[in-house]
Amino acid sequence: MIKIIRQAHKHKKIKRFKCENCGCVFKADEDEYREDYFFFTFLGYLCDCPKCGEDVFRKHQKWDDWKSSWR
Ligand SMILES: [Zn+2]
Repeated sequence: MIKIIRQAHKHKKIKRFKCENCGCVFKADEDEYREDYFFFTFLGYLCDCPKCGEDVFRKHQKWDDWKSSWR
């Protein structure tokens, strides 16, 4: 039987979101937001607004670089 001596404490990646619908700003960790893909392109993160329940999209930081490289 395998015993865990020490559990790895992975730092949760917390992201900040701003809801365009109600103006609420909130933080969510990686269990709460999900990654958004368009085909195989990583676009950013999606999370439900805790106030109004709307999908809040947060653009991936590199997305602008990626987009400008196609111009
Ligand atoms: Zn909202």
